Formats: sequence, C-alpha cells, structure tokens
Amino acid sequence: MRSTESEQIIKDPPGPQENVGCKGGSLMICSDSVLLLLRDLVAIPSVSGDEGRVADFVVALLEHARIDVQRLGHSLVARLARGAGPRFLLVSHLDTVPVGEGWTHDPYAARWQHGRLYGRGANDAKASAAAMLATVLELARRPGELAGEVWLALNAQEETDNSGMRAVLAATGLPDGAVCGEPTGLEVVRAQAGLAILKAEWRGRACHAAHVAKAEHENALLAAAAELARLPRWLTPPGPPHALLGPSTIAPTVFQAGKRHNVVPDRAELVLDCRLAPPHTAADARRVVAERLPAAEVSIVSERLTPFETAEDHPLVRAALACAGRARALGSLTLSDMALLAGVSAVKCGPGETSRSHTPDEFVLASELEAGAQFYARFVPAALAALKEQQP
Ligand SMILES: [Zn+2]
Repeated sequence: MRSTESEQIIKDPPGPQENVGCKGGSLMICSDSVLLLLRDLVAIPSVSGDEGRVADFVVALLEHARIDVQRLGHSLVARLARGAGPRFLLVSHLDTVPVGEGWTHDPYAARWQHGRLYGRGANDAKASAAAMLATVLELARRPGELAGEVWLALNAQEETDNSGMRAVLAATGLPDGAVCGEPTGLEVVRAQAGLAILKAEWRGRACHAAHVAKAEHENALLAAAAELARLPRWLTPPGPPHALLGPSTIAPTVFQAGKRHNVVPDRAELVLDCRLAPPHTAADARRVVAERLPAAEVSIVSERLTPFETAEDHPLVRAALACAGRARALGSLTLSDMALLAGVSAVKCGPGETSRSHTPDEFVLASELEAGAQFYARFVPAALAALKEQQP
C-alpha cells in the first residue's frame, strides 16, 4: 500500500455502509474497502468467547447490504442464493487468542502504517475474514444470477473448541465445497492433519505405603513405568508417510499417577496426542498404542478433528491453484474449522503467514490483504463452476 493511501484512511474513517464496493462490472474488490474492513475488525477485541461485538458489527454490515444473515451465538452465516446450483462456503473465524505478553504495538489500535497493520487477529484470521466479507459484499452489489449459492460463515470459538463451526453446520447442513480462510500465504492447502487424543490407563491395587512389605498390592505407577520405558519417542500407525503431511505421529504428553505420598496408586494415566494424516484414524492410532502398552486399557478421548484431504486432481483444487497462481497444493499441520468438513471438497487458503499467528506484534501486510481479496473474488465464480462440473 502506498503511504498516501494509509494517511487518507487514517484521517477519513468511513461508516460501515461506506466501507465497501467499487465501481465497474467485474468482480474486483476495491483495495481501500478491504483495508478499512480489516481495520474495523481488528479494532474490536474478540478473544474466543467474547466475539459478540465484532459479530454485531459484521451482521449490521451484511444487513445494511440486504444480505440474508443468521446469527448463531457469536458466529454468523450469510447466504447469497440467486440461482440454482452448488453451495459454496467461505469460512473463517472472528475469534482470536488472548493478547499475551511482549507487544511493542497496541494490539487494538488498528492503524495502517507503512503498508502493514499490527493487531491481535490481524493475521489469524481477520485478514481472511475481511477479504471474504469484501468479496460477498461486492457479489451482493452486482445484479444477476449466481451459478449457485454462496455462503459466508464467520465463526466464533475456532481457537478453542470449534463450537462456532459446529453451530453453523447444524444450521446450514454441509456445503458442496468450501474454502477455509486462514493465513497460508495464499498457498492452496488441500490436506490438513487431524487431531485425536488417546488415554492409556493402568489399574492396580492400592495399599497404605506403610504396609508395602506385607500387604498385597499392585503399584499402577510401576506397571505404567515399565511399559513406558520401552516406548519410542513417537509412534505411527502402519503405512507410508502422507505425501504432503509426512507421517502420522503419536506422542505421549501427560502422565499422572498417585495423589498422596502415603498411598500406593491403583491407577496411572497417560495422554497421547495424535496428529493424523489421511487415511489414518483415531482407531488406527489406538490399535498401535494398545499393542505397545498391553497392560493398559487404551481409549479414544477425542476424535472430532479428523484428517482432511481433497484429491489433487479435484476441479476445486485446480480452480484454486489457477486463481492463486500456484503450481501445486500443499499440506498443513495446523488445525482449522476445515477439520469439521469431512466429505466436503475444500481447500484452505488465505492472506497472511501462519508463522505470525498467536505471536506478539502479529501483523498483516496491505499487499497480502489485497491479494487475498482478489483471490477470493476470482475463486468464488471459479469454485461454483468447478463444483457444478462435479455434480451429476
Ligand atoms: Zn486461525
């Protein structure tokens, strides 16, 4: 962004209704409008669970543009349905992690300076949210049919438990295709590792620690330790590593046994974190762990964030690559709401860099944001056409 533009933006803050829209027939996003949108989104703090005000702001903006919008807790879903055809979802999130320590910039000042904007959530994921919002507002301004339905979901609680996305999908049902807006440097991600959590539990027989010499007992801590000592640093289910994501990994992370110094523990528990690449499932991971820890009862604690993959040659992936100007799609070990889109053709692609997420002095560049908005503007019609190709 040129410096004259940034000064003009700082001096002349428009209301939401003036934020968006450019003249002209083609779906091109006005650069100033998306920069202003991001500024407005970042200026409203929205740590997970506290997204109400930013959701109010976005709902008002969409309603002003006469777009059908549904509020679901602190999440929202807007729908543009002006033609029959596939349903394409743009999804990102409005919540952020807490500010944390180490900032040299005000995390909510939300000022464009020298072509960048510092702020909590600027990169993850309000840049994507602003770019998607600008695209949908611009689509709504244009008359005529769409080759299908365009949905925009801006979710709460993505950084915590994905409950915002679950509420949206419960209301809308699954779309035919989706793009998940997260900072990927506008790389097209078509595979995402899933997360499963396992628990291994050893049972023993307690006794008072004073009576170990004569009382019958089984120390669960020692039973666990004997097996754990033989574990490698990480395990993996059988099969070759995933071409984009590498091997699935299972790592022991939390161990607990005993509560009091004078009681021999009758229970020991190990938690294992499993980062799973397709086609591995939590059940595959459980099987491997159970083989290595035969004295333990191994169970699945969580498996809702499933590994995700859209085929390399899927028309949606090809369309995304063409619109982003990329030669090949990538894999990502970072979780997102895409984990809840099992069975849907989707890619993850958005402005900003994942390395800046959750850091002090998080920022995004104006050039990245503008490129992101142009990407979504090109990708929405291309995606509808690609999905139509897939329909019987
Ligand atoms: Zn994110």
